[in-house]
Amino acid sequence: MSSLPVLPQNPSATASEESPRPRKEHLLNTSDDQLKTWLAGRGYPAFRAKQIRRWIYAGRAKSFDTMSDLPAKLRAELADHFELFNASEAHVSTSRDGTEKILVRLSDGGEVECVLLRDGDRRSICVSSQVGCAMGCVFCASGLDGVDRNLTGGEILEQMLRLQHRLPESERLSHIVMMGMGEPLANLPGVLAALDVARSPEGLGISPRRITISTVGLPPAIDKLAAGGVPYNLAVSLHAPNDELRSELVPVNKKIGIEPVLAAADRYFNASGRRLTFEYVLLGGINDSEACAHELTRVLRGRSVMMNVIPYNPVAGLPYVTPSKESIARFRQILEADGVNVMFRQRKGDEIDAACGQLRRHRGQRTASGQSTTPVT
Ligand code: SF4
Repeated sequence: MSSLPVLPQNPSATASEESPRPRKEHLLNTSDDQLKTWLAGRGYPAFRAKQIRRWIYAGRAKSFDTMSDLPAKLRAELADHFELFNASEAHVSTSRDGTEKILVRLSDGGEVECVLLRDGDRRSICVSSQVGCAMGCVFCASGLDGVDRNLTGGEILEQMLRLQHRLPESERLSHIVMMGMGEPLANLPGVLAALDVARSPEGLGISPRRITISTVGLPPAIDKLAAGGVPYNLAVSLHAPNDELRSELVPVNKKIGIEPVLAAADRYFNASGRRLTFEYVLLGGINDSEACAHELTRVLRGRSVMMNVIPYNPVAGLPYVTPSKESIARFRQILEADGVNVMFRQRKGDEIDAACGQLRRHRGQRTASGQSTTPVT
């Protein structure tokens, strides 16, 4: 007989209040070893783990029900213990150019954004790493309210899979860019856990050479990434050619400074052999002057880099504007004349707020305006 005291029952309590059901585990947060241990504990052989993974990543399964070569009992046990996906799609927007953006609502109610971009044969996705962002770049919608929390590896993977599900069977994801909401290097464990699966042949099978991690430049984390030995592409968001202007645009620069960022990027290049990319959001009247372009060429001189210049995508409520065609052309001409490899990125999905953080902020207004957005319940 139990010696535990009998606790008084609350007569008005509902069944769920009396015995709150423990939240199911997010399967995408479960490592291969953990899944095999879980299976072994129920008498299933280890190869079942491989089957389950194949269903998730190659088979694009949306539920355990569809994993038809697993015993029905195992499917039921999986469904009882795990959630395959634990977020939902609060909103989906589709642009005329084929860009699709999902506002993902996480299990705790936080929201992040992820984007699928179609460009020729490429099927690139841009994925978030944090809810909000602490870097505070003044022109960015994602950082306006600071950071709430890091995403887990499973939550990052879930964005990738939700975007994969939007492709027809004949198409597969080709490139991943960690450039959505958040600073990926401020959440290195979560990001690397997700990317380990993304690049695994048993996961999404995307070569690290087709995976880009974008950062404002956090030197210790860049060094950790280099020490990991996986040759991901590194894209450093510069946005200004000197500390004075960069500290205004990217406030975290006050604590770091451009030189240490560049030195860490150089170390990454030496360790990985991957050509560096620098990002530069071109803001009309702010960092698009000829003087800025000339200063930028001096900063980049001697470095093997690709300079990605992105004309600003305006955010309602922020005072920044798209640069004029003339200033874009002048900026480009100065960089190219100095031998800088420069690419002016086409803005995709403008009408669906494809720049990170914008859909999350604008959602209420946009759905009310009847534009090309598709609410998902
Ligand atoms: S641009 Fe990137 S790093 Fe800067 S606030 Fe936005 S999400 Fe954060």
